[in-house]
Amino acid sequence: MTRDADCLFCKIAGGEIPADVVRENERTLAFRDISPQAPTHVLVVPRDHHRDVASLAAAEPDTLAELVRTAADVAADEGIDAYRLVFNTGEQAGQSVFHVHVHVLGGRAMTWPPG
Ligand code: AMP
Repeated sequence: MTRDADCLFCKIAGGEIPADVVRENERTLAFRDISPQAPTHVLVVPRDHHRDVASLAAAEPDTLAELVRTAADVAADEGIDAYRLVFNTGEQAGQSVFHVHVHVLGGRAMTWPPG
């Protein structure tokens, strides 16, 4: 298990900081975003620490696939068949927590391009 003692999402995955968890297993955790941008806004993270999606793809491709499957399961649990998955990668793209997470956004109409 790779862990970073200073990482917020490692602390959530380890149960040190509470979160509104909607799904979990040995490798992944899904919890509601603290500042929701849509009626459904859930973050899916691996328990292992990787800073972004490219790092996760290189190190644990199966876990990346599982993040996407879990995101689809979350959408099904929420009763939505249209949703947006977002991996912000890098500060300029909006990444603020450097532990890979996919945003599952849905429950309202989405516009394109994103801001
Ligand atoms: P990003 O900006 O793509 O790195 O996404 C980080 C997300 O984490 C933001 O949408 C925040 O609202 C969310 N967030 C920050 N702290 C927490 C927390 N304690 N519990 C749940 N979500 C959080």
